[in-house]
Amino acid sequence: MKGLAPDYVYTPQGLIPDQVVSVSDEGVILAIANRDSGVAITEELPGMVLLPGFVNTHSHAFQRALRGHTQRRLSANDTFWTWRNAMYAEAQRLTPELIYEHSKQVYHEMLAAGYTSVGEFHYVHHQPGGRPYDNPNILAEAVVQAGRDAGIRVVLLLTAYAQGNFKQPPDAHQLRFCDRSLDAYLARAETLRTSGIPFGVAPHSVRAVPAKWLTAIADYSRQHQIPFHIHADEQRAEIEQCLAAEGCTPIELLQRCAALGPLTTVVHATHANAREIELLAQTGATICVCPTTEGDLGDGIAPYAELRQANIPLTIGSDSNTRLDPFEELRWAEYSARMRYQRRRVLVSDEMASPGPLLFAYGTRYGARALRLQSGQIAPGLAADFIAVDLNTPALTGWTPEDLLDVLCFGTAASQVIKQTWVQGQKVWSYI
Ligand SMILES: [Zn+2]
Repeated sequence: MKGLAPDYVYTPQGLIPDQVVSVSDEGVILAIANRDSGVAITEELPGMVLLPGFVNTHSHAFQRALRGHTQRRLSANDTFWTWRNAMYAEAQRLTPELIYEHSKQVYHEMLAAGYTSVGEFHYVHHQPGGRPYDNPNILAEAVVQAGRDAGIRVVLLLTAYAQGNFKQPPDAHQLRFCDRSLDAYLARAETLRTSGIPFGVAPHSVRAVPAKWLTAIADYSRQHQIPFHIHADEQRAEIEQCLAAEGCTPIELLQRCAALGPLTTVVHATHANAREIELLAQTGATICVCPTTEGDLGDGIAPYAELRQANIPLTIGSDSNTRLDPFEELRWAEYSARMRYQRRRVLVSDEMASPGPLLFAYGTRYGARALRLQSGQIAPGLAADFIAVDLNTPALTGWTPEDLLDVLCFGTAASQVIKQTWVQGQKVWSYI
């Protein structure tokens, strides 16, 4: 058993001084008790506050290899789609060894940034040309092993891909992503799910799989109560193509396929309209926003005020891993909303005066819920996933208990303040 003794701990009841957080040998939080309660202290954390670790709900680990290399001119008019060509070229180069190396490196970076869990939206499955490896899950297993070796909790979101666009065959670059049939995909999913790893299913998008795949995969997700994640409404072109092919918008198509519900996380929803927002709210779905990637790719700004009004839970994802800093993702969610609506304090909860607590919840417990994890808060029975923040760093000078989360979200970078990261009761990263 461990007993961690920071100056403060952030619990569902707020920021409390002089507590000991006791953790079982299995890495589960047992209790939060006063220092004088007699609980054995095994690690003093002087000058630090213990906060729940962040949950990165949406990552494509290998895209870390593109960081800084897609900013120059790729075509006469660079867009998401020309960036995608560069990404496809990178995906062609991957081997089991390379995907392991990219993943391990980016997972170390995530731990340093305070992410303790990651939903890995994994879609490169087969050999160049599309032929499965002898072990058809070898690339997925390489990603899982990289997470294990780095010390982060990976929830493998196995991506389904079948076509290049609505009712169009895949192009040469997409063959690596595609399974030959729904049954082949579900067989791979079943092997991974029953291996005991944290697992979910993820049709890539409404354009990348036929509608009947969406229905079947959503059924599978409900049957096993596992997460169902999907990209939707990131680009206006996808919405126009969906209207032309299916006569409805992407989120309406998900509803038609019975693929919206509490297990569903829609990634981006940047251009969701009022009807789609209503459907997401009615069905209890979550939205994962990825502000640094959405900015990098020129996607647009999510309709944050309408999402907040509809009380839709938001989570954050580092997506293309061009930047790893949960405070920056949360800050840019709120800042881009301010720019869109030309007012301040958009992402605030009804009972709280400032955005910090709600933003922090998006980054932690809402993310844990979207990945079906027992974590995201410091409370008994949940996984001991923590970050230790140094209250004496210059970026935090002047902090008060009332506004600590606002100071962190609006005034710091993760690399300035996070000194330790703990996953399942183990210290997996510390500042040297
Ligand atoms: Zn993505």
